[in-house]
Amino acid sequence: MGISTDVIHAKRYVDPVTGSHVAPIYQTSTFILPDFDTAVYLNQHIDKGYVYSRFGNPSVREFEEKIAYLEGGEDAVGTASGLGAISTAVMSLIKQGDHIIFGDVIYGCTFALFTKILPSFGIEYSIVDTTDVDAIKAAIRPNTTLVYVETPANPVLKISDIQEISKMLKEYDGIKLVVDSTFASPYLQNPLKLGADVVVHSATKYIGGHGNVTAGVIAGPKELMDRCRMPFLQCFGAVLDPFGAWQLVNGLKTLAVRMEKHCDNAMKVAKFLQQHDMVDKVYYPGLPDNPGYEVAKKQMRGFGGMMSVDIKGGVDAVRTVMNNVKVFSLATSLGNVDSLIQHSPTMSHFDMTPEQRHAVSIFDGQVRLSVGIEDADDLIEDLDQALNLLKK
Ligand SMILES: *Cc1c(COP(=O)(O)O)cnc(C)c1O
Repeated sequence: MGISTDVIHAKRYVDPVTGSHVAPIYQTSTFILPDFDTAVYLNQHIDKGYVYSRFGNPSVREFEEKIAYLEGGEDAVGTASGLGAISTAVMSLIKQGDHIIFGDVIYGCTFALFTKILPSFGIEYSIVDTTDVDAIKAAIRPNTTLVYVETPANPVLKISDIQEISKMLKEYDGIKLVVDSTFASPYLQNPLKLGADVVVHSATKYIGGHGNVTAGVIAGPKELMDRCRMPFLQCFGAVLDPFGAWQLVNGLKTLAVRMEKHCDNAMKVAKFLQQHDMVDKVYYPGLPDNPGYEVAKKQMRGFGGMMSVDIKGGVDAVRTVMNNVKVFSLATSLGNVDSLIQHSPTMSHFDMTPEQRHAVSIFDGQVRLSVGIEDADDLIEDLDQALNLLKK
């Protein structure tokens, strides 16, 4: 079936007792087991039934099966947040003495995990421009076990070629490719189908879509997902809760229509901003002069709803714009039905040094827009009136 049908119908859970149209929320921490021998068996085989909600829960399972299906993975693991997915996936793939390679533009807390926490457990790292496959290749060492790529990358929307990277890594034995596909959602891009080993999402963003749940998900081969689940997720404990999973399943049903509208609106906003007097530069992969345009066109169904914008006048100009928008909300996060604006250097990417930020075009006068699904004209008018205040 087509993906608009799949987001609604694929792996849909129908309650066997009542036939409830929307699956019930299994808001329970434990499950009553029928007899001693079954209890012993299920406690030792957590994939064979439900025992305790940290090991598995039917509401969470519906979400996991839907994401595995949509991403083309054998299985998926729901988590309490995007960082829960990233830390669980990465920790399950590395050991002391390993070397990891990751992109020079990635989510702020992922950067902190890789540069502040993992080194104290004996993990070496190299930061490279992952839009350059040769740069990744050049950074590979005998102990490299993981390449981590975010595409489109937060916040300047750099696009890395998943297929080319995975092709190059196939020449090596045992280097896994993990892709953070949060900015694309399973609607716009499916990294596993392009050769990645594991895909991670912050489901807080487009998958949920309404800004009312914090969650994440990992998808990939069953063997790897089993390992993520047990022992890693079970021991770290960043499990998804049943109510959050239920919200995500409902959010997913509108993913296709939401993403189409996000893409349409973002393209209109990007074109408008590109010709505005008070704007220096728009970073949006849907603009043909963007360096990621061709690769994005090849590996994505659309260009997405995210962009960054360099405003003339630095931080003072940013302050004026952010304090005066009326339809956009001043909020971090992204992928909601409503439009959001944030300042990457002081908010999402505060963990990088100014030198690190400037080297990858995260400039002080830059805002990041999460373009929502409101009327495009209203969004454009809102940004226009706020930017025009800078001329006074
Ligand atoms: C938000 C985000 C994360 C972290 O997700 P949380 O749900 O906030 O933990 C990771 N990667 C990207 C690209 C994000 O946008």
